[in-house]
Amino acid sequence: MQHIIDRFISYVTIDTESDPNSTTTPSTKKQFDLANKLVDELKAIGMTQVTIDKHGYVMATLASNVKHKVPTIGFVSHFDTTPDFTGKDVKPQVILNYDGGDIILNKEQNIVLSPSYFKDLLQYKGQTLITTNGLTLLGADDKAGITEIMTAMEYLIQHPEIQHGKIRVCFTPDEEIGRGADLFDVKKFGADWAYTMDGSQIGELEYENFNAAGVKITFKGKSVHPGYAKGKMINSMLIANDFINELPKGETPQETKGYEGFFHVTGLTGSIEETKLELIIRDHDMKKFIKRKELVHKITKKFNKEFKKQFGEDIVICEIKDQYYNMKEKVVPVMFIVDLAEKAMKSLGIKPLIKPIRGGTDGCRLSYMGLPCPNIFAGGHNFHGKYEYVPVESMQKAVEVIVKIAELTATTDFTKQEARSKKQEKKEKKTKKK
Ligand SMILES: [Zn+2]
Repeated sequence: MQHIIDRFISYVTIDTESDPNSTTTPSTKKQFDLANKLVDELKAIGMTQVTIDKHGYVMATLASNVKHKVPTIGFVSHFDTTPDFTGKDVKPQVILNYDGGDIILNKEQNIVLSPSYFKDLLQYKGQTLITTNGLTLLGADDKAGITEIMTAMEYLIQHPEIQHGKIRVCFTPDEEIGRGADLFDVKKFGADWAYTMDGSQIGELEYENFNAAGVKITFKGKSVHPGYAKGKMINSMLIANDFINELPKGETPQETKGYEGFFHVTGLTGSIEETKLELIIRDHDMKKFIKRKELVHKITKKFNKEFKKQFGEDIVICEIKDQYYNMKEKVVPVMFIVDLAEKAMKSLGIKPLIKPIRGGTDGCRLSYMGLPCPNIFAGGHNFHGKYEYVPVESMQKAVEVIVKIAELTATTDFTKQEARSKKQEKKEKKTKKK
């Protein structure tokens, strides 16, 4: 266990914050600090074909140790941390034998990680937790994933009696700014399927995510001296406000869960002359997703019609861009890859928590690039902030899941599995038609 703790801490103490305003990949040079270290470490534990490209993508191979043909599987995680909260000077605290009470993260600033607010903590009573010092994020998202993959590969190398096929590993930059899959060379990776180790609590297994679009709307106005403005002024800020009020009530992130989609206002800046509104649209269901986009266009049209005479041209300019799609479509035809992960968890006494992701992962983009890629827990909680923590036991379990998946892949007859998946796909299509 100390080995996992040491490895994890050696990663999180390297600042790898990504930057959405950068146009390069990786978005920040400092991501190479960890990427290069990972290359050295992969070589040191005995991985082969260890490569890093100019964009920071690290890949490595664990060669098959069986004679028969086995599908090549991959494990993927990202080494950048979110720009939402600082990842500089991370000073992790290790809490041994957690007693179920408040954890003081920072005494001076009175920052406390408390189970009365974060109820999930209670399920880890008696375990070893790694927390922040209250001033930074931790970076378990997703350095826990990297720790687990690295440790699992090391374990397999040290235990040649465990059968496995060829395994590919990839550590990516810039996942947190939505670009982790952009320059991922799926062909070079050469896996039949893969798993991102980027979920949260122990047991999580995910193969459904949102369909996602980003909306940018510009409202034009007319500024006139307020004393003489009657019938002349168009205040673009008020129009934007009206626009937001036209969106369906009760469909925001804070009012939805499970499979419920939403509209989310992410930015609003304006003056009388011009206001810019940014929204994101999310829905697991493709039909509903399309309807949501149509609604935004419809409201745009309505406003433009209303102000046509007064303004002379379109007052609302709306631009919608699809960001990613639900990976379910690409995973269901090879459903056995999810079954395999589920079986691995169950055989280790872990209860699989299969639920839709209310977001996207690199895996969903990769799935559409030809690499079906469900997501498995990495163990951490409260990502992207100072309350982030990870139980070491969950990381240990994730290591075991990786090892088990490798073993099951080498010992499963996939001809039957594939047939079953096709059957399931047909069934799904039938129920869809109904
Ligand atoms: Zn992540």
